[in-house]
Amino acid sequence: MKYDLIILGGGPAGLTAAIYAGRYNLKTLIVAESFGGTANLAGEVENWPGKIGSGMEIMSDIKVQAEKFGAEFLETSIDSVKKEGEEFIVSCGEKIFYSKTLIVALGTKHRKLEILGEEEFLGKGVSYCAICDGNFFRNKTVSVIGGADSAAKAALYLANICEKVYVVYRKDKMRCEAISLANIEKNEKIEIIYNATPSEIVGEGVVKQLKISKDNEEKIIDVSGVFVEIGATPSTNTVESLNFELENGYIITGKDTKTNIEGVFAAGDITNIEIQQMITAAGEGAIAAHSVQNFLMNSK
Ligand code: NDP
Repeated sequence: MKYDLIILGGGPAGLTAAIYAGRYNLKTLIVAESFGGTANLAGEVENWPGKIGSGMEIMSDIKVQAEKFGAEFLETSIDSVKKEGEEFIVSCGEKIFYSKTLIVALGTKHRKLEILGEEEFLGKGVSYCAICDGNFFRNKTVSVIGGADSAAKAALYLANICEKVYVVYRKDKMRCEAISLANIEKNEKIEIIYNATPSEIVGEGVVKQLKISKDNEEKIIDVSGVFVEIGATPSTNTVESLNFELENGYIITGKDTKTNIEGVFAAGDITNIEIQQMITAAGEGAIAAHSVQNFLMNSK
């Protein structure tokens, strides 16, 4: 099956590109491991224009809208992507798809602390998603690692469920949105431990303690959960063979979302975008679909 466009990734960038591509009448396939992507894991999203709702709710609305305009949807993992001549070949298990163009909107994956205990206690107290796992820690004490927007959102969310939330941050002032910091500071359940770095997660079957290093001393906090909210790295491994030009691992794009590979455009958190927000990713998705339309018209 040959498409005008295959969109890789189903977060805000990919789904918005699908809305636009469908409306341009491009024969479009959108492939994603899970539609909604990491935006599904966002709790209450307050900065999406027009609606305040959970990430999952907003993403579900966008998907319904995208389906209306004719793109084909496939929820599966992508094994490989390559270019042969002028054609792109996307392999998903036994299925192989061909396309004239690609939009890469694969987003990012969670960064890990890489400390002792992190792997061992994954799912047994260590989590990368407060929204998904917070409920397991009802009335318990947990820690959140990180000092930016994700850590702040996770801490505020967990404070609604847990007895106590320690935020462990390596610098001396959190750098999340001011409104979040103000809410954290007035929340009696949240305590920020500044200038501290986690060194080991300790437990017996499940997490019991977090070791941190603060002021050159080791300290131990008793916690049942450790929520790692320290950012993300771009999900470029499936598209490695295309040899993108990267900046700190992120795909370099122009204003028109063009990459260094002819016929390939990139949008959203996987690119060297200025700010990683749902709205900016959606904007890039729209631009990418428009650029594909121009590219196909000019290559006829
Ligand atoms: P960021 O990359 O912005 O921040 C990561 C945080 O983790 C930083 O505080 C960083 O410290 C800390 N950190 C990184 N590595 C380590 C480590 N190895 N050990 C300890 N701490 C570490 O990631 P976020 O996930 O917070 O945000 C990603 C993007 O998504 C941003 O653009 C953000 O604005 C956006 N976002 C927006 C939200 C919103 O509601 N508007 C909600 C969530 C995310 P340091 O500060 O020292 O670098």
